[in-house]
Amino acid sequence: MSKQISAELQDALDRAADGGRIEYEEALELYRHAPLHSLGTAADAARRKRYSGVYGENGEIATYIIERNINYTNACVTACKFCAFYAAPKSDKVWSRPLEDILRRCAETVALGGTQIMFQGGHHPDYGVEYYEENFRAIKAEFPQLVIHSLGASEVQHMAKVSGVTIEEAITRLKESGLDSFAGAGAELLPARPRTAIAPLKESGERWLEIMETAHGLGLESTSTMLMGTGETNAERIEHLRMIRDVQDRTGGFRAFIPYTYQPENNHLKGRTQATMFEYLRLIAVARLYLHNVAHIQGSWLTVGKEAGQLSLHYGADDLGSVMLEENVVSSAGAKHRSNRMELIHLIRAAGRVPAQRSTTYNLITVHDDPANDPVDDHVMSHIASTAIEGGTAHPELKLVDVR
Ligand code: SF4
Repeated sequence: MSKQISAELQDALDRAADGGRIEYEEALELYRHAPLHSLGTAADAARRKRYSGVYGENGEIATYIIERNINYTNACVTACKFCAFYAAPKSDKVWSRPLEDILRRCAETVALGGTQIMFQGGHHPDYGVEYYEENFRAIKAEFPQLVIHSLGASEVQHMAKVSGVTIEEAITRLKESGLDSFAGAGAELLPARPRTAIAPLKESGERWLEIMETAHGLGLESTSTMLMGTGETNAERIEHLRMIRDVQDRTGGFRAFIPYTYQPENNHLKGRTQATMFEYLRLIAVARLYLHNVAHIQGSWLTVGKEAGQLSLHYGADDLGSVMLEENVVSSAGAKHRSNRMELIHLIRAAGRVPAQRSTTYNLITVHDDPANDPVDDHVMSHIASTAIEGGTAHPELKLVDVR
């Protein structure tokens, strides 16, 4: 192993690679000082140890999911500085999707073999719990096979306020109306300084975690996310992981951790800072090593590119996210990568892993262990809608894009 790190740090690396627990200071030191290759080797070992005999004999399977993000409105009172999607509620750029439009998108998702939808939108000033209940009940009535993996603590806080109910009541009613799990959106950066800098009107990071903890206690699991690259420090990145790990110690309700990178176009931050691919890979690796209590680490291709996505599978990630049949939020901020199911399968296989389609709960649906049996349906592609919604975006300079 490398001679460039201290014996103490090597010990932390070895302990984490073996599935053991490391502390915040060790994780930060590893993030800052461990050679990239050593980090990747240790994170890959930790992944293999966890998944050998579970995802293939030697943990060789890497997963993906087919899902659709459905954006129900761009109206938002929260005005996050990194966001290129929202419009002020009184703006003439505001739109909301009618229920029949949402149901049509669900039907297309089912037709293309999608198993999950992510209901995603702004904090509309009038949308309380009732709005989500109506939509989720209608979706489940027509498409009981679709998993609704959506929303996060920020939306819960907002809708509870609009409806004048407690967080517990809001979560319970969402669950009863069909929400299967929370997507964990809105985590952004949890530590106070960077969160206030980019999302001053959002609830605090502590409050975000408190609401997710309440959801876990009420039987709704979630994923967790992190937005990298808006000017946060190394220490703040690892602090974000620590805050998630502490809650996970108590609840076990975070199924996955999903970091993604800030996109620089059409938002108030104007791309003054951005995370590099190396920072992203280091974060993926340290997340695998430090978040020993979170089962799944998701690599991304949407914001960091396909090659970085492939590399993430060698830095601790066990999942490459989704064929996003529709995505409008980070695309509006400049994420230009597109893919499809056949390409995702190829990317995973070319990275030396066995691709498999998974469910929301990470059960394997189809293992693509024989290329001769690969699917050939080229309609299962990302972004079948648009990078900007026709006739109604906060950013008219964005044009409708159809990649078919
Ligand atoms: S990130 Fe979400 S909460 Fe923030 S402005 Fe955009 S839509 Fe609103």
